[in-house]
Amino acid sequence: MSGIRPTGFLHLGNYFGALRNYVKMQESYTCFFMVADLHSLTTHPDTKELKAHVHRVLAENIASGLDPDKAALYCQSHVPETTELYLYLNMLAYKGELEKTTTFKEKARLQPDNMNAGLLTYPVLQTADIIIHRASLVPVGKDQEQHLEMARNFVNRFNHRYGEVFPEPMAFNFGEELVKVPSLDGTGKMSKSENQHATLYLADSDEMIRKKIMKAQTDSGPTEPGTPKPAYIENLFLLMKLVSGADVLESFEQAYQECRIRYGDMKKQLAEDMIAFIGPIREKAEAIRNDHSYLRQVMEKGAEKARASSGATMKLVREHMGLNYY
Ligand code: AMP
Repeated sequence: MSGIRPTGFLHLGNYFGALRNYVKMQESYTCFFMVADLHSLTTHPDTKELKAHVHRVLAENIASGLDPDKAALYCQSHVPETTELYLYLNMLAYKGELEKTTTFKEKARLQPDNMNAGLLTYPVLQTADIIIHRASLVPVGKDQEQHLEMARNFVNRFNHRYGEVFPEPMAFNFGEELVKVPSLDGTGKMSKSENQHATLYLADSDEMIRKKIMKAQTDSGPTEPGTPKPAYIENLFLLMKLVSGADVLESFEQAYQECRIRYGDMKKQLAEDMIAFIGPIREKAEAIRNDHSYLRQVMEKGAEKARASSGATMKLVREHMGLNYY
């Protein structure tokens, strides 16, 4: 189980941190993937563009290879059972631990005038999203590690107080380290709303991709063998590893080690490989995004599967909690 907020255009971080694994997992697991529209209200209370963003996230999920017939692909607000479970879990979450969450502190810094309770309890709603399907594997990027740890705490508290209902959810990347796709300017990670000129979006035109990559920071190159790569150069290699062939990566790696690397050539190569990677996703997503009747069918089918699973969990939850009075 996993989700993405409809707060803007999806980017390479969303793809390699999340979507790529959704697509792999749908082949061998029962999967639930959602558009986290309720979560988006914690930071984006203006809903004028919400519908367009929801459609975009659905389309970009499908264009990346997600098959709505294999996985349940749905909108969070179409599964009201989640909000009931969120309420119960809120009684097991403490103000102190929520205030210490890194993402809360970050967002409080970014929007000091809107430190709403939803922002504070974000990890609680996220736990409800996951465990409403009694899911144990959560394909996410590295930025979500702390939230998953909190989810395990809430689950353990629930199970301890009311009896074993939920498995412990784990962040999942097929046994590998969780992914963090860095921004092109070497500061922080790619993100939907920050660092836009240093983030590669799945909707970027070929020209835009070229422009962003060619503007990435470099220097005059190493002069002594064994010089460690500065962070902004490391990032270029990391991006190349994600989208270029192994032989291409190896040849630039060797050129770096032998102090004869030309970063202009490296960026040109990276830009072309990035275009070959993003271009087909962008075009497919564009077509899907404009097919509203297909998107409606996807949402309805997804909600049906998600509600069947959620309904069964909530029955169990209410029984264990003693909320059955007949
Ligand atoms: P969000 O965009 O915050 O709704 O996150 C959706 C998913 O994308 C989550 O699983 C995140 O961990 C993942 N994600 C977002 N940004 C990055 C990034 N720069 N690198 C890796 N994963 C990311």
